[in-house]
Amino acid sequence: MSNQDIENKNSMVEEISIFAMAMDPVHVGTGGYSIGMVDNTIVRDPITNVPKIPGSTLAGTWRYYVVLEAYKHFSTDEYRIKRSSREGKDIRTIFASNAPEWITDFEGNKYIAIKCAGQDEEPQKTLEESKNTDTGHCGHCIVCKGFGFSKKTCAGRE
Ligand SMILES: [Zn+2]
Repeated sequence: MSNQDIENKNSMVEEISIFAMAMDPVHVGTGGYSIGMVDNTIVRDPITNVPKIPGSTLAGTWRYYVVLEAYKHFSTDEYRIKRSSREGKDIRTIFASNAPEWITDFEGNKYIAIKCAGQDEEPQKTLEESKNTDTGHCGHCIVCKGFGFSKKTCAGRE
């Protein structure tokens, strides 16, 4: 990779600071429980024992909301519901004409689905097989590329 390639790639990354306030009580649980024990244990820093919100928790929430934002811009309900109905279609017909550029200028977004949020239920599929099935991460959209995905043949984040 040349210095120019690195500069171009870095120009696509913008560091921002975000300050957020929870509008509802936040509970980041450890996920486990024992019968007869308190089942709402919270995540704590192992050294200081101070309750914490892991970065992966914030990333998972953000991932979900990015998918929801993209979903608002599908031009038809068929495209919204069935990933396979978009096969062979131009991305500018899949999304509404007023969709933001981050959606329409990224060709891989034609495969985005609500399944791209949350955990992948079909990591055993190949990247190619995942394009048009209605389950699992697509591995091609801005959400899968930005937040990561894992498939039989590859895993990635760009
Ligand atoms: Zn995806």
